[in-house]
Amino acid sequence: SVTQEVSLKSKLKEVFGFSQFRGNQEAIINNIIRGNNTFVIMPTGAGKSLCYQLPALVLDGTAIVISPLIALMKNQVDQLNAFGVNAQFLNSTLSKAEMNKVKKETISGQVKLLYVAPESLTKEETLDFLQKAKISFVAIDEAHCISEWGHDFRPEYRKIRGIIDNIGNLPIIALTATATPKVQLDIQKNLQMDDASVFKSSFNRTNLYYEVRPKHNTKKQLIQYVKKHKGKSGIVYCLSRKKVEEIAELLRVNDVKALPYHAGLDSSVRMANQDAFLNEDADVIVATIAFGMGIDKPDVRFVVHYDTPKSIEGYYQETGRGGRDGLEGNCLMFYSYDDILKLEKFNKDKPVTERDNSKLLLQEMAAYADSAVCRRKQLLHYFGEIYEKDCQFCDNCLHPKERFEAQDEVLVALQA
Ligand code: ADP
Ligand code: MG
Repeated sequence: SVTQEVSLKSKLKEVFGFSQFRGNQEAIINNIIRGNNTFVIMPTGAGKSLCYQLPALVLDGTAIVISPLIALMKNQVDQLNAFGVNAQFLNSTLSKAEMNKVKKETISGQVKLLYVAPESLTKEETLDFLQKAKISFVAIDEAHCISEWGHDFRPEYRKIRGIIDNIGNLPIIALTATATPKVQLDIQKNLQMDDASVFKSSFNRTNLYYEVRPKHNTKKQLIQYVKKHKGKSGIVYCLSRKKVEEIAELLRVNDVKALPYHAGLDSSVRMANQDAFLNEDADVIVATIAFGMGIDKPDVRFVVHYDTPKSIEGYYQETGRGGRDGLEGNCLMFYSYDDILKLEKFNKDKPVTERDNSKLLLQEMAAYADSAVCRRKQLLHYFGEIYEKDCQFCDNCLHPKERFEAQDEVLVALQA
């Protein structure tokens, strides 16, 4: 109704400070408010969180948000608390006393959003507690974790449906940025959401500039590139922990405020470095792909892949962390044929089917890097979208150049 439209919009302004909904947000929010199962597929940075945060504020009771990473939960809860919203999380970082406090506040109806790790959700005591609370709906963020075809499979995610059934008959909203049809099908099947309204938006990120450079004098190129964006936030992805440390150090000796992030660091250091990046005490975070899922920093101005990534899907997710506010976002990838071979070697220990799959992903990556075709056209094609014109906003469109055709050679090497 009109009054509802007005009140949703005023809530958007009042709580989040935004004056307009983006894309399908309003339709999605209305769908969940009506109590319908909802499936949202939107690219990274499109604004998926708001699709469950806003209805949680409007509806009676507490919305459960299932989220795969502690860092991700903390990030959203901190942000909501800063907006004056009572949001809390339940995960292994809380003491028994803290946990009891959260549970008490939830049962008394004060908590509007309760973020829960799937590991905590499967505990019997959590289930007992949730049965006592008034739950409005369940949001499953990063829902591709359900699928083995996704890039972040979490076995616990496959148990979610059964647990929800034990809490009650609740509407579900599942959200992901993974657009491949195989993953979508898997998610809907596992969550038994054949009846869900599906909202899928275009994966084109018009403000991202895509660029691939050969891996020559890479250190020098990187320093120049980062200095060109001096004082701005950026992410530099490297393949190994060792490389992360090396490049973070290289940037530091060149007067760049850079910090490392990888799974080998103590979790307190990791969290501190992430916070420093989010709070702008550090400009650049040098990281393995362990960094970034769901991290909301709207003003990341550049994303560099120092080493060639393993797949187009991963590359797209990682570049998607740039320019989330809709402003400038520069994506630079360094490519070398040696990197592809190195990655191919890592696959040797994997089971045969997985190895074949990884090899195919690598071939696609090499073909993308070597190609002279509009980058955006290639990326969108990968996600099943047709992009008719050339984008005029990538290296291949703006600086077409004679290229050394390494592709045949790469393919031969991969088949060897
Ligand atoms: P996703 O989960 O889809 O990757 P997020 O929910 O993290 O994206 O949102 C990305 C950014 O967009 C955030 O900085 C968020 O505050 C902002 N945002 C979301 N909705 C709107 C809106 N309607 N107007 C302006 N900014 C928005
Ligand atoms: Mg998100």
